[in-house]
Amino acid sequence: MANSSAAADVDVGANLKPKVNGLMGSGDSSSYPTTTTKTTTTTAAAAAADKLEQLQDGLSCSELFKNGEGLTYNDFLILPGYIDFAAEEVDLSSPLTKGITLRAPLVSSPMDTVTESEMAIAMALCGGIGIIHHNCTPEYQALEVHKVKKYKHGFMRDPSVMSPSNTVGDVLEARRKNGFTGYPVTENGKLGGKLLGMVTSRDIDFREHQPEVLLADIMTTELITAPNGITLPMANAILEKSKKGKLPIVNQDGELVAMIARTDLKKARSYPNASKDSNKQLLVGAAIGTRHEDKARLHLLVANGVDVIILDSSQGNSIYQVEMIKFIKETYSDLQVIGGNVVTRAQAKNLIDAGVDGLRVGMGSGSICITQEVMACGCPQATAVHQVSQFAKQFGVPVIADGGIQSIGHIVKAMALGASAVMMGSLLAGTSEAPGEYFFSDGVRLKKYRGMGSLEAMERGDAKGAAMSRYYHNEMDKMKVAQGVSGSIVDKGSVLRYLPYLECGLQHSCQDIGANSVSKLREMIYNGQLRFMKRTHSAQLEGNVHGLFSYEKRLF
Ligand code: 5GP
Repeated sequence: MANSSAAADVDVGANLKPKVNGLMGSGDSSSYPTTTTKTTTTTAAAAAADKLEQLQDGLSCSELFKNGEGLTYNDFLILPGYIDFAAEEVDLSSPLTKGITLRAPLVSSPMDTVTESEMAIAMALCGGIGIIHHNCTPEYQALEVHKVKKYKHGFMRDPSVMSPSNTVGDVLEARRKNGFTGYPVTENGKLGGKLLGMVTSRDIDFREHQPEVLLADIMTTELITAPNGITLPMANAILEKSKKGKLPIVNQDGELVAMIARTDLKKARSYPNASKDSNKQLLVGAAIGTRHEDKARLHLLVANGVDVIILDSSQGNSIYQVEMIKFIKETYSDLQVIGGNVVTRAQAKNLIDAGVDGLRVGMGSGSICITQEVMACGCPQATAVHQVSQFAKQFGVPVIADGGIQSIGHIVKAMALGASAVMMGSLLAGTSEAPGEYFFSDGVRLKKYRGMGSLEAMERGDAKGAAMSRYYHNEMDKMKVAQGVSGSIVDKGSVLRYLPYLECGLQHSCQDIGANSVSKLREMIYNGQLRFMKRTHSAQLEGNVHGLFSYEKRLF
């Protein structure tokens, strides 16, 4: 799809040019009819406006892409605007689909090293949304959706549990993996078993040299518990008074059903921007493929309350996806469906015609992708986001910029090109909420992060070809051609700390641009008020840290 024709598609007319700080915005002269470019009045104000109009630097969004080169987020900057509001006032609300608006435009990718229930809960608490991956059995995926929908802030519904026959060595090993020492001990070593005791650091301190000692012999059996059904504030009050580290919640038969922890109490805060449905349950999405058996998966996900389905394909413009969209819309007319991935307007058109509520944009820009190299197919991400967003806007279909987001600046740039939300993989991988265990390499704490098109992901035992279906439509038996790599990523701590950093950074960036909301930012794209500038290679070097012998880059 030639970019040069993109400008002609802009549907916003010259009469939409707003007054900007008392000036007429010059608009996007390449794309809008310019019958009213010059003011006809001769008042002093109009003359001043005319003069200042000529001071508009840089390029409009369409002008930036006019030459048809493929641009990436690093190839341009956004010029600063006028600030007349505080950063914290910036409203980050933005649509994910036609029917769902998020308070923060942040989405976690359906990858098996990024999004399961823990990530999805954290994303939703912070105003975004997580999309549960489908590289697993339908039952496993549905259970993850269920956990998000049933989540009650503060209660641990899935605590790690020990049995009396576990040993001090087991606790030490669990501490190494999980980072904490307090475990409830139940008869069968599982949640739902009769609670017999608790083992805490006090029980195992100084026993490092006795790893074989049974928990039955050292656990604390005088316990303070709370009954199932207790409210969080009441449970917190008991915990505070008890001076214990953990409060087990038990049912009438003394069986463990949940737990709350003092550490959670300490960091307990409210999440006023949490993404919730009308029943006040957290929002969650799930990915599926487009094969026949994905219909059964879909029914199971819907039965467990999924709010949005993403059709997960690296090249979404296919008869399989069109048919699946129609099937979902006929079967569950209220269920939101995001189609993709697409990078051109022609691809987007087919999915919009089929009835999608949102589009996922990106091909080969992800940090773990080798699609552009192997398939020679794809599109530089900034260009893809711009051209699809500009087209989809006419149909009211929001766009999610997927892949290649490495920083807050990239998120802002994606939004400034017309995306309504961004999907992130690498930025969220390595957090404590991402699936997988931490491990050490050369003293650095790492987690695995892999492409869903990596051989490793496609060969996952319980996946039944789900990851492969993202890359192959109906050639499951043929030789696999990897389109992704498998690697590791540095520990980033908790998403519950990381997302507020991203959101705060987004607000500050919008402030610099002069947009007090994401919707204002979008308005500024299409009336030409938002100005861009291309960056030469040396401009990019200038924009990075340079000339230092060494430095530390701490972000928050
Ligand atoms: P990241 O945020 O890490 O730059 O990119 C994540 C995105 O890359 C995902 O949301 C997905 O669209 C894409 N992706 C995930 N796995 C693979 C893969 O193996 N190959 C390719 N080509 N893309 C992938």
